[in-house]
Amino acid sequence: MESALTARDRVGVQDFVLLENHTSEAAFMENLRKRFKENLIYTYIGSVLVSVNPYKDLEIYTKNHMERYRGVNFYEVSPHIYAVSDNSYRSMRTERKDQCILISGESGAGKTEASKKILQYYAVTCPASDQVETVKDRLLQSNPVLEAFGNAKTLRNDNSSRFGKYMDIQFDFKGAPVGGHILNYLLEKSRVVHQNHGERNFHIFYQLIEGAEEDLLRRLGLERNPQQYQYLVKGNCPKVSSINDRSDWKVVRKALSVVGFNEDEVEELLNIIASVLHLGNIQYGGEDSGNAYITTDTQIKYLARLLGVDGLVLKEALTHKKIIAKGEELKSPLNLEQAASARDALSKAVYGRTFTWLVNKINVSLAYRVTPHTYKNASVIGLLDIYGFEVFQHNSFEQFCINYCNEKLQQLFIELTLKSEQDEYEAEGITWEPVQYFNNKIICDLVEEKFKGIISILDEECLRPGDASDITFLEKLENTVGGHAHLTTHKLADGKTRKVMGREEFRLLHYAGEVNYNVNGFLDKNNDLLFRNLKEVMCMSDNKILTQCFDRAELKDNKRPETAATQFKTSLAKLMEILMSKEPSYVRCIKPNDAKQAGRFDEVLIRHQVKYLGLMENLRVRRAGFAYRRHYETFLQRYKSLCPETWPSWQGKLADGVSTLVKHLGYKPEEYKLGRSKIFIRFPKTLFATEDALETR
Ligand code: ADP
Ligand code: MG
Repeated sequence: MESALTARDRVGVQDFVLLENHTSEAAFMENLRKRFKENLIYTYIGSVLVSVNPYKDLEIYTKNHMERYRGVNFYEVSPHIYAVSDNSYRSMRTERKDQCILISGESGAGKTEASKKILQYYAVTCPASDQVETVKDRLLQSNPVLEAFGNAKTLRNDNSSRFGKYMDIQFDFKGAPVGGHILNYLLEKSRVVHQNHGERNFHIFYQLIEGAEEDLLRRLGLERNPQQYQYLVKGNCPKVSSINDRSDWKVVRKALSVVGFNEDEVEELLNIIASVLHLGNIQYGGEDSGNAYITTDTQIKYLARLLGVDGLVLKEALTHKKIIAKGEELKSPLNLEQAASARDALSKAVYGRTFTWLVNKINVSLAYRVTPHTYKNASVIGLLDIYGFEVFQHNSFEQFCINYCNEKLQQLFIELTLKSEQDEYEAEGITWEPVQYFNNKIICDLVEEKFKGIISILDEECLRPGDASDITFLEKLENTVGGHAHLTTHKLADGKTRKVMGREEFRLLHYAGEVNYNVNGFLDKNNDLLFRNLKEVMCMSDNKILTQCFDRAELKDNKRPETAATQFKTSLAKLMEILMSKEPSYVRCIKPNDAKQAGRFDEVLIRHQVKYLGLMENLRVRRAGFAYRRHYETFLQRYKSLCPETWPSWQGKLADGVSTLVKHLGYKPEEYKLGRSKIFIRFPKTLFATEDALETR
């Protein structure tokens, strides 16, 4: 058998806390690289799982593997997503405490795959109850549906989730999954009307066009050619080699019925999807400065039929705007540019609201059906699959929201990790030694504080009538929070940094690094307005889904709807509350290269992610106290053969046995501490020496 030492040389350590030089980034990277080369994509930092996307199918997700991780102690088997799943499940069962698993990482790092693996693990290994098979099926089948409507091909990931997702899995008192609930965050609606080069619109459009039966296509007035549709040609990328739209269509159709859609509902849903494509093909005539008119009557005809609205009213609404001022209705014609953007706003609103409706519909189908046997003692495991920190060449409102979300999650991480370390030391009766760390609350406040946070300032500009613009927003930022240590603009920057800042940018110093945001479009995106007459038309629709999406009450209520940023802030605050009430586990996903290729370990790219995920900081906190901790029983069981007094068995108290054992091994007092139920070992080398003694005995 290979000795422990040489194995360590070859495959590295399975927990970063065991690294000899834990503050060295080079050592961290080396360990990650070694393991990646051996297809060992999982490594721990204490209880945090670090995962590197292999970009190939590994034989580690079989039913056998699932069984191997069932009910086994975290440390006794090699690191795995199943170990994390099982650990959360068992904590939920034994400690009766709700759990959550937080998965983070940049686009393409493997978050969504990880969340699916967790779900599959529970579907296979958890006990069944009467209704459980349908619930398990629905939980699993909600994925293809949500992915069809919420995922798209981007430059980074062929199946990129364009929304954040938090899913509760509910278990009954026997530990069987009995229900679920999904919360969705910030769907990237702009993709409906525009895609960057090499990217696509949401999968469902292509699936429908490629996969639908002839007579369905005819009913929807569609042709079997994505190139015909303005909303599908922007990225010049109708086909993707890794995606088979036609077979995915079949999967999604089936999933829709498992999740509980009847034929009529599917038809209504597809009517909406087709309508969006027809909307995109509406063209306008007219001079640039003059009034726009519609030149494509066929589209209006289809739209009128599919949406069940009056064609003339729709036509009028797509070329005029109506506002209510001082109780009076004012209608004015739109020019070309305005009309095109009104049309796009309608497409985005229709798609966005339909997506929200879809999530609600799935939630109804996953709802925990209370029976006299199941209602008591239900507990929950939550899965969070949400976009990681994003930095592009050009960063806009969307990146601002996403990175704000990551600041909040980092805040939660700091509080909970440090707190749980502290709690454990306290529970074990060991003196707590405070750890120095950067608290990013100051950045969260800068973004979200009432009245003087960035979001408040943005909202204020959005509400201000008159000359408010993206630039006046920037100026207001300078005047209000210009002195803040974490914010800079072109005007405020010193000579050194000035040359890399644009005039329309502000820079935030995030916990993970600096990001420049271009203010262009901030006001529009935050306002997210839809002209009143377009809302009115949608309220008239006899499509049953749209009736639920566009509520007449919205028209009566003349208050402005909440801005996009404020809505996001509110939903994040709720999410934090949910997560705070649960016991967290973390999965940190890393993308090994930008080429989506197996076997390629791009040092620069990975080091960047290690930094943005805060992994070194995480390791430092974990190591600040003790590298290694183990229950007396486990420790004694493993090493008892190394001491004549504990071999073959120790009769006295476990703590005394461990004490006798480590004294015999020559542990020095500063190397370890004995708590109430566990031994804490400060340095990895102490443990390695003991491991090696076991090997060479
Ligand atoms: P994210 O959700 O983080 O953007 P995904 O989970 O969609 O990323 O992963 C992107 C792609 O990487 C997947 O479509 C799959 O091809 C590959 N991938 C991710 N995780 C794994 C894994 N554990 N094993 C094999 N391939 C994976
Ligand atoms: Mg994803």
